[in-house]
Amino acid sequence: MAPKIKVQNPIVEMDGDEMTRIIWQMIKEKLILPFLDINLKYYDLGVKHRDETDDKVTIDAAHAIKEFGIGVKCATITPNADRVKEYDLKEQWKSPNGTIRAILDGTVFRKPIIMKNIPPALRAWKKPITIGRHAYGDIYKSTEYVVDRPGTAEIVFTPKDGGGKVALPIHEFKGRGVVMGIHNIEESIRSFAQSCINYAIEEKIDLWFGAKDTISKKYHGFFRDIFAEEAERAKGKIQQAGIQYRYLLIDDAVAQIVKSPGGMLWACMNYDGDVMSDMVATGFGSLGLMTSVLVSPDNKYEFEAAHGTVTRHYYEHLKGKPTSTNSIASIFAWTGALVKRGEIDNTPQLVSFARILERTIIETVESGVMTKDLMAIADPAVSKFALTGEFIDVVAERLKKAL
Ligand code: NAP
Ligand code: MG
Repeated sequence: MAPKIKVQNPIVEMDGDEMTRIIWQMIKEKLILPFLDINLKYYDLGVKHRDETDDKVTIDAAHAIKEFGIGVKCATITPNADRVKEYDLKEQWKSPNGTIRAILDGTVFRKPIIMKNIPPALRAWKKPITIGRHAYGDIYKSTEYVVDRPGTAEIVFTPKDGGGKVALPIHEFKGRGVVMGIHNIEESIRSFAQSCINYAIEEKIDLWFGAKDTISKKYHGFFRDIFAEEAERAKGKIQQAGIQYRYLLIDDAVAQIVKSPGGMLWACMNYDGDVMSDMVATGFGSLGLMTSVLVSPDNKYEFEAAHGTVTRHYYEHLKGKPTSTNSIASIFAWTGALVKRGEIDNTPQLVSFARILERTIIETVESGVMTKDLMAIADPAVSKFALTGEFIDVVAERLKKAL
C-alpha cells in the first residue's frame, strides 16, 4: 500500500452514541486511519461520558474546534426523561449540538448527496438543494402566555437609557386566547447573512432568501433589509463567482424550489429552515444521505451527518440481529472535514484522497451495493441490500483500488 498521507494540522474528533458510534469506529478503522497520518484530538461525547464529566467534555470539544478550526462529529443522544432512566444520567443534559452552536455561533448548512440510481421524489430536482438555517431566536426563544380572561396584551419596550417606554397593543382579548413574544438581533441576522453569502460564493451557487415581508413588514422586513445590505456589500465577490442573490416571498420560494432543478443555497429563517430541511432531506431520498456543516462567522467548521443515532437499529444490534444502517452521511462528514483541512493547510493530496473516497461511495451505490434504506427507493431496483459492515468493507476494498 502507498505511504500514508500526512495531515498537517489536527482535526477535532467527537465520538457519539448508539448505532452511529458503532459505524464511527468502522469508518475510522477502515477508511481513515489506514490511509492518513493524522492527529485526531479525540473527545468522547457519548452520553455516559458527558454525564461523567458533567457535560464539560462537550464544552471542551467546542473550544478545541475554535482552536484547531475543524471538527467532525458523530451523532449523539439528546437526553429526554426516558434516556435519563435508560442511561442512569445525573440530569437531562442539553443537546450537544446546541452547546457547540452556542459557543461557535454560526449557521448550519445541510446538503443532500445525489446518486444516479436514487431518484428524488420530485422529478425536477437534479442538483442538491442546500439549506442554510438561521439558528437563533424567533419562536425558538420566545415567551408565551395563555390568556384566560378578557384583557389587553401589549408589547412593552423599556429603554436602558431611561428614555420613555414604548407600549404597543397586540390585542384586546374578550375571552380566552394565546400570545407569544419573539425577537431577533441584528448581529445574529447579519452574521447569518454573511455566512450564507460566503458559503454561496465558495460553492459557486445562487443564494435565495425567502421571508414574508408583505405581512410582517417590520420583523421579516428587518431580515430582508439586512440580507440586501450584506449582498450589496459583497456585490463584487458575488459577481466574480458568477452567482446571484435573489429575495423571494417565502411562498414563492417554496413553489419555485419544488419545480426548480436545484443547485442553490436556500437561506431560511429559523422555523422555515427547521421545516424545510426535513422536506428537502426526505425529497432527496434518505436521511442517510444528508450532510450537515456548522460554519462560524470566523470560519471554524464542524461537520456531521444530519441524522440521529439511529436508535431502532442499535436496539436490533444489541439483540444480536444484523443491521443495515447507512453510513454515507457519516463518511461524508469525515471527507468534508478532510477537504477543508487540506484546503486550509494547502495539501492537495489530502483533498484528492477525500474526493476519491466520496466518488468511491457514489460509485459503490451506483453499482448496486447499498443499505436497506436506499434499496427501498433505488431505480433500477436491486435485489439485495448490504449489511452495515458489509457496505463499509466494499467501500474500503474499492478505495484501495481507486488510490
Ligand atoms: P434518527 O436517528 O435520525 O433515526 C430516525 C429513523 O430514520 C431511523 O429509525 C431510520 O428509519 C431512519 N434513519 C436515520 N438515519 C439512518 C441511517 N443512517 N441509515 C438508515 N436509516 C436511517 O432519529 P431519532 O430516532 O429520532 O433519534 C435518535 C437519537 O438521535 C435521539 O436520541 C436524538 O436525540 C438523537 N439525534 C441526534 C442528532 C445529532 O446528533 N445531530 C440529530 C437528530 C437526533 P427506520 O427505523 O425506518 O429504519
Ligand atoms: Mg425539523
